[in-house]
Amino acid sequence: MAYDYDDQNIFAKILRGEIPNDTVLETDYSLAFRDIHPQAPLHVLVIPKGPYVCYDHFAQEASDAEILDYTRAIGKVCALEGVEEGGFRLISNAGEAGVQEVPHLHVHILAGRPLGRMLAKA
Ligand code: 5GP
Repeated sequence: MAYDYDDQNIFAKILRGEIPNDTVLETDYSLAFRDIHPQAPLHVLVIPKGPYVCYDHFAQEASDAEILDYTRAIGKVCALEGVEEGGFRLISNAGEAGVQEVPHLHVHILAGRPLGRMLAKA
């Protein structure tokens, strides 16, 4: 499947500095910032700076340098925010079934309260 990236999405605007964000970490290829509507005491989004729609798009087409940087950025945010202590969850929603709201790859890092089962029963 060929992904069609929409450069008017809200995270593209954040990356261009058109919308403010509460930055946790910035690296060469990645940006981490706090979710505007946190669903847990800690809710950080980590995005690559490149134009990738979702995780599989990134995993298939990003350069090794981008993938390394992004993976390490997620690890650094986890360490900075101390999520190892009480546990945490990483989520990356994609497409319609995944109920992805913003079509720019992001991983949610959630922590700070019991997060329940991964999925509610349908
Ligand atoms: P998705 O449903 O696409 O996985 O999650 C998108 C996330 O982006 C949501 O948790 C939503 O609260 C967050 N979000 C949407 N717009 C903004 C924004 O302008 N700034 C920040 N920091 N987060 C946003």
